[in-house]
Amino acid sequence: MAKISVHGNIIPIVVCCSFLSLIPVPTKSQQVETLPIHTRRISERVIVAWPGDHAQTTNMIAIASERGIVVVDTESSWSVTAEIRDVFARELQRNDFVYLINTHGHTDHGGGNQVFQDAVIVAHERSPGMQVNALGSGNLERRRERLDYWLTGMSQQLESLPAEGPEALAIEERSRWVRRILTDLGPNFELTLPKVTFPDRLNIDLGDLTVRIYYFGGLHTNDHVVVHVPEEGLLMTGDILAESWIPVLSEGDDVNIPFMLANWDTILQEEDQIRHIVHGHWDLGISLLYFQQAHRYVRTLWEEVIEAHSLGTDLETVCEQLDLENRFPEFRELVHEYEGVDYHRRNIELMWALRGDESPVGYR
Ligand SMILES: [Zn+2]
Repeated sequence: MAKISVHGNIIPIVVCCSFLSLIPVPTKSQQVETLPIHTRRISERVIVAWPGDHAQTTNMIAIASERGIVVVDTESSWSVTAEIRDVFARELQRNDFVYLINTHGHTDHGGGNQVFQDAVIVAHERSPGMQVNALGSGNLERRRERLDYWLTGMSQQLESLPAEGPEALAIEERSRWVRRILTDLGPNFELTLPKVTFPDRLNIDLGDLTVRIYYFGGLHTNDHVVVHVPEEGLLMTGDILAESWIPVLSEGDDVNIPFMLANWDTILQEEDQIRHIVHGHWDLGISLLYFQQAHRYVRTLWEEVIEAHSLGTDLETVCEQLDLENRFPEFRELVHEYEGVDYHRRNIELMWALRGDESPVGYR
C-alpha cells in the first residue's frame, strides 16, 4: 500500500484495480480520428508518451514503482489517454495504476482523468475548481463551441495551402486532434476531479521511489505544481516555463510567490542529481540551465520589488532598476514582448500588485 503525506499526516490509500472494464470506449460505428502514439523510454522505470507529430499534445509520463504506477498528466482526449494507458501497461507489463497527478487544471492536462478512476487523482487544491470551470456540465457547451471555432479556422487555413505540403499536413493533423477531442465530449465524457489536493507540498512514498509534488502557482496558472522524483533524477515541470520565452507570471491575487520560490530553492538544492526535465508538451523542453536562470530571474524580481516597497520607491524606478537588457542579459534574445505586451514589465507590475501583503495571500 502506498502512503501519501500531506503536512506530515499519513493517509493510507486503498486502490481498486477492477475499474478498467467500466471505462467506455467508442463503438465501431463511430468515426474515430486516429493519431500515432509515440513513446520515449527515459529509464527502466520511466516512459513518456504522446500522440501525433504536429498537434501540440501533452507528454504523459508513467513511473513504475514497487507500489504501483504513477502517471503525470493526461491528454485532452480521454479516449487517447486510454490508448496511452494501454501502451504504458503493455510496456511495463503491469496494470496497477495507483496515482495520477495533474500538473494544473487546464483541460490538456486533466481532460482524460476519467480513464484513471481506479487510481488516486492528485492535484493542487485550486485545480478541481479550474476543471469544473472548463469541463463542468454548465460549461461543456462553451468548450465545444471553442473547439468548433478552431476547426473552422483551420479548415479556412487549409483552403489557402497546397495540399500535401508540410503546413497543410500539420494543420490537417491538428484538425483531426480537435475532432477527436470533440467526439470525446459526447455522452461518454465523465468529469473526474482530483480527490487528493494540497496547498503547498505533498510527498508520496512508493517504497523504492518518492514522488515529491511542489506548488509552483504563479507561473502559467495559479494552481501549477512541479513533480520531482529524486531517485530517477526526474523533474516534470508541466507548462510553468518555455525555453524560448522569459518566465511569464500568471494573473490573480491568489498566488504565493514566496512559497513558489521556497519550493524552487528546495528542488535546486539537489540540482546536481537532476538528469531529465520533461516539459508538459512533447514539442517543448527546458534545460537545467534555463530552469536555474528562470529561478534567479523570478527571485531577483520578487526581492527587489519587496525591497522597493519597504523603501517607498515607486514602480517606475523599480522597472528601471530591473532593466532586462542589463540585469538579465541571458534572456535578451528570448521572447519578452508579444502582441504589444511587454511581459518583463508585466511580471514586475504583477509582483508590485502582490507585494503589499506582508504575509502571502491564501497561505497565512
Ligand atoms: Zn498545456
